[in-house]
Amino acid sequence: MSQPAIEAKNLYKRYGEVVAVEDVSLSVAPGEVLGLLGANGAGKTTTIELIAGLRKPDRGTVRVLGHDPQRERAAVRRLLGVQLQEATLHGALTVAELLGLYRSFYPDPRPAAELLDLVDLREQAKTRFERLSGGQQQRLSIALALVGRPRVVILDELTTGLDPRARRRIWAGVEALADETVLLVSHAMDEVERLCDRVVLLDAGRIVAQGAPAGLVAQTGTGSLEEAFV
Ligand code: ATP
Repeated sequence: MSQPAIEAKNLYKRYGEVVAVEDVSLSVAPGEVLGLLGANGAGKTTTIELIAGLRKPDRGTVRVLGHDPQRERAAVRRLLGVQLQEATLHGALTVAELLGLYRSFYPDPRPAAELLDLVDLREQAKTRFERLSGGQQQRLSIALALVGRPRVVILDELTTGLDPRARRRIWAGVEALADETVLLVSHAMDEVERLCDRVVLLDAGRIVAQGAPAGLVAQTGTGSLEEAFV
């Protein structure tokens, strides 16, 4: 079997008295799109921060294509593209300038035109970041995560608060990622049903169900997965 793109074993992380992540193990195959689903406070963001090496687990291990994000930071940074919730970007810069800035950080960046096409922002190239709509800002943050040709992409709450049309445009951008492994954090069942091969459901820091999006409804014993959060 090929090496997993992401392998997390028995992750545990607490903030003071709050146990944010407890005994979380997951494995994502190369090319797979895995959804991480759960209510507010379930531990989704902490899990991806541990996987990306942005936080250190109290216990447990993470490997990204065989590399430890804590000990092999440079290798993991090359392999991983992370789009985080509410990225703050310099509002006065245009889309093209921001892409140029990010491209300058990498030895072999994706061409700007390819990135603009991927997220459907070609017409906004000369628009300042602060003038973009919420959906356009989200699409730009995805493009920025993809600049360095990452093999593993982490996307956090891609479409929260966006209208249906903006959500569909973002989904099309994610679907265009044919080769990459994707870990997608979401609150929305329709989003994971459309995009994910497999879903892991977190509740109070623990994995409570996992499987194909459709099968998960049966596992949680509710008519719809959203009801499992109530
Ligand atoms: P959301 O959907 O609201 O983003 P989440 O599933 O991403 O939630 P986390 O942000 O990982 O959940 O939070 C898990 C738990 O850890 C919550 O109880 C939260 O209050 C707590 N927590 C998260 N970050 C911190 C922090 N920096 N300091 C203290 N507690 C934290």
